[in-house]
Amino acid sequence: CGIVGTIGTGATTQILLKGLNRLEYRGYDSAGIYVNDQDGQDYLVKTVGKIAALEAAVGPQVQGRIGIAHTRWATHGQPSVANAHPQFSGSKRFYLVHNGVISNFTALKEQYLADQAFASQTDTEVIVQMIAHFVEAEAMTTLAAFQKTLSLLAGSYALLLVDREDPEVLYVAKNKSPLLIGLAAGYNVVTSDALATYDLTTDYLELRDGEMALVRASDVTILDQQGDTQGREPIEIKVEA
Ligand code: GLU
Repeated sequence: CGIVGTIGTGATTQILLKGLNRLEYRGYDSAGIYVNDQDGQDYLVKTVGKIAALEAAVGPQVQGRIGIAHTRWATHGQPSVANAHPQFSGSKRFYLVHNGVISNFTALKEQYLADQAFASQTDTEVIVQMIAHFVEAEAMTTLAAFQKTLSLLAGSYALLLVDREDPEVLYVAKNKSPLLIGLAAGYNVVTSDALATYDLTTDYLELRDGEMALVRASDVTILDQQGDTQGREPIEIKVEA
């Protein structure tokens, strides 16, 4: 239902939790964050119920320089910790948050992941397991695996992906669900709703349906479905809060 991500700042956990609090008005049944310190240490925390419960479960050690966060409004699978996002691959290498609905997830699961064990009932887990499958079983790069997976998805999505083997980049994609990349001083944020990040920046790059982006601390590359780089001028979004 709501997404926040950031890369390149030491205030990652604070930005994610503050953002999720501001997205509460949209409604949700569970929430979670994944934070990576870009130095080998990472944290996954998920809870059912209020953001306050998530905040209580996030210990002071949960600090990092890249992170993704989500409030879930269940469409496939009951509200539970296992079904909350971030969803992750069996290898615990890939972490993903998703807004939207993947309409062909059952067919994709049968075609590509017949032998894969699943930890949740979500359509979202199929996305992250497919990316892992293409990297781990077919030796693709993470970028190629992400692009291939996107090309196979039907439905709506705003996605943020972290590869714990390369936590210097946030993989982002959008189709029929809102997603904005906010440009801040020395770091970047990504959100489904500028209300989550209005105090951090007013400059946003708007992704178009079918596009993806590689977001690093100090630069953003937008690619179309053919893999061609797309130029984009920032737009100004001011939120009265
Ligand atoms: N379809 C996904 C799920 O049920 C995402 C729902 C959402 O947008 O919060 O887990």
